[in-house]
Amino acid sequence: MKTNIEKTIKILEKHFNYKERTTLNRMRKQKKSNKNAFKILIACLLSLRAKDETTDKISRRLFEIADTPQKILKLPIKKLEKIIFSTGHYHKKARVLKSVSKELIKRFHSKVPSTKEKLMSIKGVGQKTSNIVLNFAFDKEFIPVDTHCHRIPNRLGWFKTKNAEQTEKQLMKILPKKYWKEFNGIFVLFGRTICVPISPFCSKCPVRRYCKRVDVKKNR
Ligand code: SF4
Repeated sequence: MKTNIEKTIKILEKHFNYKERTTLNRMRKQKKSNKNAFKILIACLLSLRAKDETTDKISRRLFEIADTPQKILKLPIKKLEKIIFSTGHYHKKARVLKSVSKELIKRFHSKVPSTKEKLMSIKGVGQKTSNIVLNFAFDKEFIPVDTHCHRIPNRLGWFKTKNAEQTEKQLMKILPKKYWKEFNGIFVLFGRTICVPISPFCSKCPVRRYCKRVDVKKNR
């Protein structure tokens, strides 16, 4: 089983070049000196239910105007909403961006904390966001699990889980640590292009020989 998991990851790693990966994954690959935990946190909050191209474009535009908690807080809410409008749920996201910035200033000297406990104590920061920040900004061994990272290992037959939280626990048990950092970037891209939620493209899947296609009723 473990060998098949390693083989699957290795094939997918080659197939999905990191340059094509999501905005957040590209931010992770920046040099340490250029990495900015605040920008990664804000881009992650903007990315929820948004297309990757939109997250990329809007987060760049926002950071030209406001790239610190203080600057976000100073932006009038209407202006902030206008900037982030196309990421969707802009009323809610603008409020979250403001409150997260406020908490960072008040409780963490304007710095993004680097522990799970502290990150999760910030209102608006959940399990996936905190794992993304810990992994992408601080190089810590956490596996961010979104809908693709949950769906695909279940289809592959690695385990049977009901939600992202259970999946994260299982992945931590079966996935060799050397793949933890790359896992999210690879599987998000795989889930958007080939192993899509409805009718996956099994005929052109590079790992079909290792897949049990659990609960895949229709495929192309
Ligand atoms: S064979 Fe089909 S279900 Fe299995 S991983 Fe590939 S695309 Fe997904």
